[in-house]
Amino acid sequence: MMTHADEGWPGRSWYEAKSNDRWSGSGRLAGDHAHDVVIVGGGLAGISTAVGLVERGIKSICMLENELPGAGASGRNGGFVFAGYSLANDALIKQVGSAEATALHGWTRDAVGLVRNRIDRFGLACDVNDAGVVLADWFGDDERLARFADRMRQQLAFGLEFLSREQLARHVNSPRYGAGLFEPASFHFNPLAHILGLADWLREKGVAVHERSPVRRVERCGDGWVVHVDGGRVRAAEVVLTTGGYDRTLRPAVQRALQPIATYIAVTEPLGSRLSDLLPRPVAVYDTRFAFDYFRPLPDTRLLWGGRISIADRRPAAIRKLLAGDLQRVFPELSGVAFAQAWGGWMSYARHEMPLLGRCRDGLWYGLAFGGHGMATTTLAGEVLAEAILGQTDRISRFQRWQPRWAGGLIGRGVAQSRYWWLQTLDRCRDWRGCP
Ligand SMILES: Cc1cc2nc3c(=O)[nH]c(=O)nc-3n(C[C@H](O)[C@H](O)[C@H](O)COP(=O)(O)OP(=O)(O)OC[C@H]3O[C@@H](n4cnc5c(N)ncnc54)[C@H](O)[C@@H]3O)c2cc1C
Repeated sequence: MMTHADEGWPGRSWYEAKSNDRWSGSGRLAGDHAHDVVIVGGGLAGISTAVGLVERGIKSICMLENELPGAGASGRNGGFVFAGYSLANDALIKQVGSAEATALHGWTRDAVGLVRNRIDRFGLACDVNDAGVVLADWFGDDERLARFADRMRQQLAFGLEFLSREQLARHVNSPRYGAGLFEPASFHFNPLAHILGLADWLREKGVAVHERSPVRRVERCGDGWVVHVDGGRVRAAEVVLTTGGYDRTLRPAVQRALQPIATYIAVTEPLGSRLSDLLPRPVAVYDTRFAFDYFRPLPDTRLLWGGRISIADRRPAAIRKLLAGDLQRVFPELSGVAFAQAWGGWMSYARHEMPLLGRCRDGLWYGLAFGGHGMATTTLAGEVLAEAILGQTDRISRFQRWQPRWAGGLIGRGVAQSRYWWLQTLDRCRDWRGCP
């Protein structure tokens, strides 16, 4: 029998364990096929593109996934559905100005609404919790947080509700935090159940969703494409590449811009009534540090705890150890509580921290690099790509300022890790000195 210590990266997620391997898709792709559109990669970017196309009347779609839908980051993440990009809001405003940033950020808020709306419309059973998402201040600087909320309201039309220390304590019972900000309309859910539900919906609409069908090559052929898997191929007029941080070989010209970055999650044993003592309101929480902790209650009174960013693919045993210390810093009363499950996943980042949405010179579409803010932005990307494939390119053109620039290969990975250590050191200094 396999023990925790035997598990390798990335580990089996709690969501997978709970799903009872319920996916029954179209099987591996075999033989010759033809479709209007082929989507490579069954994460939320690919699935959302397919949903966006079906909702616009295109049904001849083939999705090819290396493992199962949601096997990458989309089915093993924290389950926070909130607005914004990986690029910080202040940096976005600085780069494009307040008016353009308001439009771009507004699209992610619309996407939060779209994820929620599809859950209702398609009847997806994915443990939605509408209590929302709260940003808790790690540094105890209430005024700075209030100024940030004002700035977001004025420059981004983004209304965050300020929670005083006393109000935050009514959401999260930890001495660790100062004030907080509540994001209206945000929510949290089981991301794997969500994506499997969307994949089922696609199959009902006639989309071919092929699991365990790794794409080996994508070739131009006349006006269209041929996409090759072992033992099969598909001809298509359009191909969309949505392989997240899990492939950098199919189109190196775009994918060499990606930096796969790991983050880790662990889930406690059921805590019973102790959980509502710690989280009097069942909100999802993250904090104001660069490499923040993130946590949320699960329906069976477990606490899901996530954190850290790194280039390292750690084993679940190491993730347990690493996150146990982080958990105890916030909730000392949980010292000694065991993590029942631990796992990790790859996020994909571009150096500029914005999504890569566009079309290669040879005509191949791509939607990549959603970083740690992927649930709303992949849904937005699916809409933007579906519009563009059907000839409406005004929104995709607004992402062209963020091009796929080389991430520096192995040296770039070293630089990224050094930068993370540096930013984490700055956070620690700020914490020790209590300075803003
Ligand atoms: C641990 C963790 C916690 C996170 N928490 C949150 C959160 O709480 N909220 C949030 O908004 N974001 C979160 N994120 C980020 C979010 O999950 C991602 O940004 C988002 O899921 C990316 O979706 P994607 O479709 O681009 O990539 P993925 O979900 O990684 O999908 C890519 C897919 O492509 C497949 N693939 C790769 N190569 C091939 C090939 N050659 N042929 C066929 N298929 C291929 C892979 O198997 C994979 O399924 C988290 C990420 C991680 C890892």
